[in-house]
Amino acid sequence: MNKTLLVLIDGLRGDAIEKAHAPTLDYLIGEGSSSLKVKTVLPSLTLPSHFSIFTSLDPYSHGVLTNTSLPDTSSLGQSLFCHVKAHSGTVSSFYSWEKIRNLAMPGTLDHSFFHRLNKEKDLILLAGAASSHILTRNPDFAFIYFEWTDMIGHRFGWMSPEYIKAIELTDRALGLMVESIHSTGRQGGYHLIVLSDHGGKGKHHMENTPQITQVPFIAWGHDIRTNYRIVDDIHLLDIAPTISGIMDIPPHFAWQGKQIPRIILKSPRHKPLARVA
Ligand SMILES: [Zn+2]
Repeated sequence: MNKTLLVLIDGLRGDAIEKAHAPTLDYLIGEGSSSLKVKTVLPSLTLPSHFSIFTSLDPYSHGVLTNTSLPDTSSLGQSLFCHVKAHSGTVSSFYSWEKIRNLAMPGTLDHSFFHRLNKEKDLILLAGAASSHILTRNPDFAFIYFEWTDMIGHRFGWMSPEYIKAIELTDRALGLMVESIHSTGRQGGYHLIVLSDHGGKGKHHMENTPQITQVPFIAWGHDIRTNYRIVDDIHLLDIAPTISGIMDIPPHFAWQGKQIPRIILKSPRHKPLARVA
């Protein structure tokens, strides 16, 4: 099993990466495979989007349509956390918004860390906790949720100077993840996925416009093609099958997405399932 970290930068717009001084994101884009046009789900809200990322189901299939929903516990809704666990992997989650805990069924996580963000330093504290956990415990799969960009977008507006500054702070937090991966060395063998759940416009993310419904995706690691811009149409539903492919475990039968083609250098043992129409 290839170890993988999924870092979710909430409300990150692709065109904002260029405007910010973001050396970690620039490094990962240069050294990995990336797209700035991953299609989000509708409604483009944080909790429905996260459920679609983790269960590879559209919101009407997984049943979480608002930020206040409780998860649908139907057996078809197999979360990536549970899937990795079912293949004997260890799973960890680091987050600052309590509803994120719904992505894993009770009893699934080996380690979880919750710390609400009030100030900038809280984001660095969360990243530091994730970084030291990766170095000392080497989980097979870890999810790290960076919320600060979305919080600042709602408060000051997407693309405002404050929002660009929030990306720069988040880039420093992301740098801690990259450093910890470098420190584990090739034996750690970590791959890193950086993703967002939706963009934003003004002080919200409700409209069906590209600034909201297209988000960045970056994959980086020793099995990932370097300096490659993904040309295929990709969707948030493709993330769980792609991570599964990187980790070399078969996708769950109910997942609707497909593995992103051409980014994994070795041939995966398990053929990806076609997307269900
Ligand atoms: Zn969000």
